Amino acid sequence: MKYLSTRAPSEDTADRKRFCEILLEGLAPDGGLYLPESYPQVDAATLAQWRGLSYADLAFEVLSLYIDDIPAADLKAICRKTYTEEVFGTAEIVPLKKLQDASTSSARTDVYLEALSNGPTLAFKDMAMQLLGNLFEYELARRGEELNILGATSGDTGSAAEYAMRGKQGVRVFMTSPFGRMSPFQQAQMFSLQDANIHNLAVKGVFDDCQDMVKAVSNDLTFKRQYKIGTVNSINWARLMAQVVYYFAGYFQATQTNAEKVSFSVPSGNFGNVCAGHVARMMGLPIDHLVVATNENDVLDEFFRTGVYRVRGSADTHETSSPSMDISKASNFERFVFDLLGRDGEKTRALFHDQLNVTGRFDLSADPAFAQAAQRYGFVSGKSTHADRLATIRDTHQRFGVMIDTHTADGLKVAREHLTPGVPMIVLETALPIKFAETIVEALGCEPDRPAKFIGIEALPKRVQVMDVDVQAVKAYITQHCA
Ligand SMILES: *Cc1c(COP(=O)(O)O)cnc(C)c1O
Repeated sequence: MKYLSTRAPSEDTADRKRFCEILLEGLAPDGGLYLPESYPQVDAATLAQWRGLSYADLAFEVLSLYIDDIPAADLKAICRKTYTEEVFGTAEIVPLKKLQDASTSSARTDVYLEALSNGPTLAFKDMAMQLLGNLFEYELARRGEELNILGATSGDTGSAAEYAMRGKQGVRVFMTSPFGRMSPFQQAQMFSLQDANIHNLAVKGVFDDCQDMVKAVSNDLTFKRQYKIGTVNSINWARLMAQVVYYFAGYFQATQTNAEKVSFSVPSGNFGNVCAGHVARMMGLPIDHLVVATNENDVLDEFFRTGVYRVRGSADTHETSSPSMDISKASNFERFVFDLLGRDGEKTRALFHDQLNVTGRFDLSADPAFAQAAQRYGFVSGKSTHADRLATIRDTHQRFGVMIDTHTADGLKVAREHLTPGVPMIVLETALPIKFAETIVEALGCEPDRPAKFIGIEALPKRVQVMDVDVQAVKAYITQHCA
């Protein structure tokens, strides 16, 4: 299996790469995103075989179709080491919970939650990041190399990266975050890590300052090369690929036979999660609809309703109570558009490089391809607001005795607008309510449940370096801690 860039001219096959070559990379050199040159097809017999597998072995089967430069026995060991009951809390890893039985006399329309947030940081990013940590350690050891991951976070991504990389050989993490702006729970999660290879840098500024500093360091190519600076952002193909697995796992739990279809509703920000659903569907998994649920930052809902993709300025980006979906542009969206345009790299480049950079928007409403987003690829969308979140959290708690987080509430609210009789709807649970306690208290008047291993974490000793918004200071810190 080779990988190509979404901006590569279609006749140009020389630049295609293998999995381990793109594993440690971010964007392709031409600014595009990597995708496999074709989607492996999973036939009915294979699906039937996979139905009985454990999550780790299912992951191995899916990953094997995309990775041919790691020996099978090693890949299987990596999957089994990653997806354990000890790390993810249950033997199923991603158990389904039936939320409602909206059956009518003629058809069943069950609604399920698929639990993706029982990993170390209680958000779905662990599902991919835990695998990435083990893949990085394996590949770096094989090459005899080291990697220093530099990132900026306002919460979920940074902590998932730290918990994935803690104690790993050959990897250090330098994670910047805005000083005093994360919730006490999030700060405790990150800053209580005592591993020598994890470095928390609390910057006296806002998230954008952190991101700008990371960019400035990465743009210093000499420094970047000398100190082997890398990232783990959501455009990494390995993260997306790892997420494909739980669409299969959810499907098997909600159905008895491969003749059945299901739909998925996905709380969306950077389009990474739902793009994995798109890949699963392209592989032949019987998915009816992929429901893209956004919050007030409705860049994606606007596209799927109108065909216009319009990135927002920072002034138009809302700070909401589902903060992990607060995006101004959706960094993985280019992957889907590439497929939608018949994998035309030149046309994708024209939209994302030429048009978007100049005008901040492109318009496919008059392009015949746009109708295919729904008809051929199954995408529908919707939007949820703070009031919707509160109502959905309350309703779910009252009727089913289940507490859901704010992002999952967005997914459930929009899912209900797209139910098809006879087709189970699986809503991806992307975080646990404890991470967003303030809104839970607002909705329910009580504190969310806290998993036992997180009781009292706010009181643990903290390991964090506070610094000014100063690129030189970040570089000096990295230099000092790379010995
Ligand atoms: C990151 C995140 C999302 C958004 O996922 P994308 O892959 O960026 O679309 C949704 N919910 C939670 C809790 C997250 O952490």
